[in-house]
Amino acid sequence: MMAINVLQPEIYNRISAGEVVEKPANVVKELVENAIDAKATNINVAILGGGIEQIKVTDNGCGIEAEDVRKAFLPHATSKIKNLSDLDNIFTLGFRGEALASIASVSKIQLTSKTAQSETGKTIKLSGGSIEVEEETGGPTGTQIIVNNLFFNTPARYKFLRKPKQEETEITNLIARFILANPNISITYSADNKLIYQSSKGDLKQAIYVVYGKECYDALQEITFTSAQIKVSGYIGKPSYVKPNRTYQTLMVNGRYVNNQTVSTAVYNAFGGYLMVGKFPFFVINIEVPFENVDVNIHPSKMEVKFQNANDVFKAVYVAVKNALEQINTVIEIKNEEVEDVRFVNKPAEPSLLKANEGVSFEKNIVEELKEQKNQIEIDINKLATSYANLNRPVDDVRTATVSSNSSIMSQLYSDKLNVLEAKKKEVEEELFNHSNTFMQDTINAEDLEFNIVGKLFKTYIIIEKGNDCYIIDQHAGHERILFDKLYSQVENGNIIVQPLLIPEIISVNHVEFDFLTNKKQNLASIGFDIEEFGSNSFKVSAVPQILSDI
Ligand code: ADP
Ligand code: MG
Repeated sequence: MMAINVLQPEIYNRISAGEVVEKPANVVKELVENAIDAKATNINVAILGGGIEQIKVTDNGCGIEAEDVRKAFLPHATSKIKNLSDLDNIFTLGFRGEALASIASVSKIQLTSKTAQSETGKTIKLSGGSIEVEEETGGPTGTQIIVNNLFFNTPARYKFLRKPKQEETEITNLIARFILANPNISITYSADNKLIYQSSKGDLKQAIYVVYGKECYDALQEITFTSAQIKVSGYIGKPSYVKPNRTYQTLMVNGRYVNNQTVSTAVYNAFGGYLMVGKFPFFVINIEVPFENVDVNIHPSKMEVKFQNANDVFKAVYVAVKNALEQINTVIEIKNEEVEDVRFVNKPAEPSLLKANEGVSFEKNIVEELKEQKNQIEIDINKLATSYANLNRPVDDVRTATVSSNSSIMSQLYSDKLNVLEAKKKEVEEELFNHSNTFMQDTINAEDLEFNIVGKLFKTYIIIEKGNDCYIIDQHAGHERILFDKLYSQVENGNIIVQPLLIPEIISVNHVEFDFLTNKKQNLASIGFDIEEFGSNSFKVSAVPQILSDI
């Protein structure tokens, strides 16, 4: 690597300034980026206590010359750019020369480094930014940085840290992104001495396997697009593998992990009708554009980029994704999973809701069931009408007897009996009335339910003919809806049936989901989920609403 220089004010004033060290994940990001810039092929990241206690990053990169080690901690000290014009052509991840200085000022840091050319290396220790130890050391070529007690001297910032587990999950997600962005680097990551990721040199698909596992790997569809200025590559998840939020989307621009609205929107639009409401595509996309066509100097965190030709990028991504989706579509996937026979649930869905492709509920043979119910009510009504008629005579008899009785005691007895009989008659009358009402309603509903299941498409969609309308209903959505309706009514009636799991289920989450679950734990408990934190990025589910126990 080139020698480290302190940037002149006219250069650093042009650099998007601002603090980047607000949480442990920021430190990890800066340190790993430095290792990547140093051309390391092996990077080891180990954290303790969510990185608040310790962050250790070891690489086998080029190392820092002994005489430059001190300099590396000076503000605006970098070996990566020198002149103003370099800012237009940034091909390293770092360029601000700020990270080590900022991290050192809020922690106890130790750096050991050795270049391939020199026999010995150097170790330097700083506390709150002041050098405490500087000595010659041996060791392999490369750099190791240990950051201890983050924010020990800035209580205000320390206060804003979240629970160690939450900080850890964010770091875990960050490392996942580094693995995806650098399939050619072996990255090992452990938290509290537990190995979490270990990637070995390979291709992007293997990296996705390491991070997201087999289910995701099996659902991948490659995307590509190449023009003179833009190259798009990577993978999307097939429409059968969609996610409930946007946190399963990774974008790399010239090898840098970034967020970019243009690209997210392009993918989303390309998926279009393949996506159901509330679902988001999975993707890991690489975009390569000439370095001068993308500005990374717009935010200190370097997480945002600005494309010179955003429209072209949009089109490139859109076309790449669209083409990939069309390829999937020409091969009809037949899943073995046997499709259940589904029909409308008790409450028929409103036709208008059906059209909106929402609010559709199905269940087994409900039309038949309704018809049976109707017959039963008809029988009940007949019985009731008979007993009502049969009650008329005793009432009349008692009334006559009352009138003709000559003793007051007898008269009282008759009158009591009459009251009882009248009450009974009223009861039967009411029952009869209710039954007739239900009967009427059910007749109407049953008519509403006259529809014809034409067939099934791709073993996924159910085609229904009803009057002059045709409905195409995603069976899985329909099934989810039934379960939702059932659960909802249980919640409303306060009679949730909880199913403890024989073997608790362990689910792994990313940091956004981790925060969500942590915050919503009480709400989830109130609808029957017993979940608790379980190791790194995981939750243990010990009980679920009984209705959902099959899924
Ligand atoms: P920047 O990355 O923006 O240049 P940093 O403060 O992150 O600024 O690092 C300062 C300098 O220290 C780098 O430019 C680089 O020369 C050197 N350096 C930091 N980390 C490493 C590393 N892991 N391997 C080799 N050199 C490093
Ligand atoms: Mg850096």
